[in-house]
This record gives sequence, structure tokens and C-alpha cells, in this order.
Amino acid sequence: MSNSFDFASNPHTRINILTGEKVLVSPHRNKRPWQGQTEEVSAAQRPTYDEQCYLCPGNVRADGATNPDYEASFVFVNDFSALLSDTELTKVDDDNLLIAATEKGICKVISFTPRHDLTLPEMSTEAIKAVVDLWQNEFMELAEKEWIRYIQIFENKGSIMGCSNPHPHGQIWAQSSIPVEIAKETLQQEKYYQNTGETLLSAYARKEITREERVVIENDHFLVVVPFWASWPYEMLVISKRPVQHITQFTEDEKTALAITLKELTIRYDNIFKTSFPYSAGMHQAPVNTTPSPAWHWHMHFYPPLLRSASVKKFMVGYEMLANPQRDITPEYAAEVLRSQSTIHYKHG
Ligand code: ZN
Repeated sequence: MSNSFDFASNPHTRINILTGEKVLVSPHRNKRPWQGQTEEVSAAQRPTYDEQCYLCPGNVRADGATNPDYEASFVFVNDFSALLSDTELTKVDDDNLLIAATEKGICKVISFTPRHDLTLPEMSTEAIKAVVDLWQNEFMELAEKEWIRYIQIFENKGSIMGCSNPHPHGQIWAQSSIPVEIAKETLQQEKYYQNTGETLLSAYARKEITREERVVIENDHFLVVVPFWASWPYEMLVISKRPVQHITQFTEDEKTALAITLKELTIRYDNIFKTSFPYSAGMHQAPVNTTPSPAWHWHMHFYPPLLRSASVKKFMVGYEMLANPQRDITPEYAAEVLRSQSTIHYKHG
């Protein structure tokens, strides 16, 4: 093995030689704070400010930095980043069996609001729009670094999803290689675009609008469906009507529409089981600092684990881990349940 490659301290990816897919390893990251237990306390009982929270304004974080007394959203480099910007890029390949490459990156945290007690669906459309603006700015800034190839904007909500702090926040990981899901989606989208001259998701959105049965939200700029192939019970896919590659291409009208769409989507989620609905959600966008691909179509995935109640969760285990995902309730039924929810949050109804 190469001497410069330190498996015990460098963030790196390893290739699974059975599937050809990558696994990200972050060996330096073993002292993350866990503040997830307080999620058991319902949001209604959470204080607007928590002196123990590393995201609340004015508090001191793990690395000793003090958060400013911010009034909207606030972004900083994660004190426990899975990727580091000073990692030297090297590769090893031991007989095509042990294949790895170091991975360079930047991991940021975005606090959506100074209010410790809120969640996205309870924030005002204006406040959510400010988060969309910040996502756009951060994306633009990170894409200026030439070594960055892909930028993942995402949110992990709820301790059930392994979220370490109930304060409403999301993350942005920017990295030097293309992750597995993006490589797969690039292939599928390129194939469709080469055959038809249209983006895969433009054609799919049009199909779903005529079929209606899986549509949950539709406005001038966005379509939200339970995808035909959804594997999580209440999985949703947000598709921009205009086939853009990156969030930076959205106009003011589109950004406002995205804020309105995200608010309505998350209110419908919370209303299903009258609970703060946990999920992992994130945008998929074209890789950066490479030839721009017109086949790539911006979209956002919502993967929530809840199945029958606030406490009954779907597990992806057994057959699903070994073969492929399986579901019981149909995507059409899930869409019907989501459509039948009020667009007024249950706490305010
Ligand atoms: Zn995707």
C-alpha cells in the first residue's frame, strides 16, 4: 500500500468490488456530539432558546467558536466534518481488490432559524425563502472552487433519522468526486436525453400531471409526486417545471415558489400522524466544474421512514438489504393520504 495513504486518518472512499459502488470512510470523525434525545420532547415543549444547543445564537460550539447573534439563517463549517479541505488526493489499488482514493471536501451546517423550537413547516414562507437564498449563495460560492465536483444540500430531520440536534438545520457537503447516487442518476438521465432530446424528468412530470393519481402538489414552477417507483412509504419527489441543472439558475419567482412548495409539503407530512414528521431530504443537481450536462434536471427527494403512526417505522432490512426494496402501501394510496391532508399545520388548526 502507498505510504502517503493513511487509512486511519484520511477521509477516503473504498470500492465495493462486488457492486462497484463506493463507501465513504471518515476515520477522523469519532467524537460527534449527540443532542438527539431531546427530540423525544415534543416541539411544542421545546424552548425558543436552549443554552446547551450548538446551533442557537450566541452559544459556544465544540471547536470553541461562538455563534453570532443571528436573526435569519446562519452557516458555518461543521466542527465534525466528514470531509476535510486539506486532504491530499491520492489513490491506492492493490491487485484490483483493495481499491481506495482519498476524498477532499467541505461540510457546512445551516441553521434555518435562530428559533430552537421551530421546524421548516412552522416557519414563514419568507423565512424559508431566506434559506433557499442561502442554499443558492452557498452553492455558487462552493462551485467556484475548481476541485469540487459535486455539492450535496440536505436535511436530516428527527432523532429516528440519526439527527443529532432538534434545532432546525440542514447540511451541505461539497466533495472532490461524484457520489454513487449521482453517478447512477447521471447515467439514466443521459441515456434518456440522448434518445429524446428532452430531460427524463420533464417527460416524467408531464406523464404524472396527465395521470393525476400520484400528484400531491402542483403550482406554476414545481410538481410534487409520490414517485411511481417510491420505496419509502410516503416518499416524495419535487421536480422543477423548468429543466435547470442547478439551484443557482432559479429566478426570484421560482425560489419563492420553492419556499411555498416546501412549506406545504412538510405541513402535509406533519398532519398525517399529527407529529413532527422525520425524513432525510435533499437536492440532486448536476456535478460542477465539468462539462455542463443538459440532461441533468434539478430535483429534490424526501425519504421519510414512518409507516402507520408516529412511532411505527419502516425498516429497510432482510430482503431489502439483500435483494431490493419492498413496500406494502401503494404509492397511489400514499399520494391520496398526502393530498387529503390540510395545508394548515395541525398545531395551528
Ligand atoms: Zn435524484
